[in-house]
Amino acid sequence: MAIERTLTIIKPDAAGASHIGEIITELERAGFHILAMRKMHLSRAQAEGFYAVHRDRPFFESLVTFMTEGEIVPMALERENAISALRELMGPTNASEAPAGTIRGKFGTSIERNAIHGSDAPETAAVELAFFFSRLELDR
Ligand code: GDP
Repeated sequence: MAIERTLTIIKPDAAGASHIGEIITELERAGFHILAMRKMHLSRAQAEGFYAVHRDRPFFESLVTFMTEGEIVPMALERENAISALRELMGPTNASEAPAGTIRGKFGTSIERNAIHGSDAPETAAVELAFFFSRLELDR
C-alpha cells in the first residue's frame, strides 16, 4: 500500500450543524494527516465547476444549490491508501442507508445532504486537490 493524498469537503449541512470539529476528530483518529485546510463559501460558478462531471444528472441544480447554501471546509488529506480508506470511513452516498459507524451515517441525512465529500480515484483526487489548494500549500 502506498501513501496517497485525497480531497475531502465537510459539506454545508455538517458545517452548518457545527459538526466540523467532530468530523476532523474522526478523520484524525482514522490516521489521516491534514496537509491543508480552509473554510469558505463556494460561489455558484465554483460549485458548478467542481461538480461539472455531474452536469447532466437530474440532481445537478439541487446539488449546486446545496453546496452553496453555507460554508464548507475542504481539506487535503494524506494517509496510506487514503482514497479508499476515506470512502470507507465516509460510508455510501445515501446517508439514510449509511452504517451508523460511518461519517455519513452519523452526520448526513439524505442522498444529497450527506455531510462529506471524498475523491473516488487517484485521477479525480489530483484534479480536486488542485481545485482548492495551490502547489505552495501541498508541496512538502
Ligand atoms: P459520492 O462520490 O458518494 O459523493 O457520490 P456522487 O459522486 O455520485 O455524487 C456527488 C454528490 O451528489 C453526492 O455526494 C450527493 O451530495 C449528491 N447526489 C448523488 N446522487 C444524488 C441523487 O440521486 N439525488 C440528489 N439529490 N443528490 C445526489
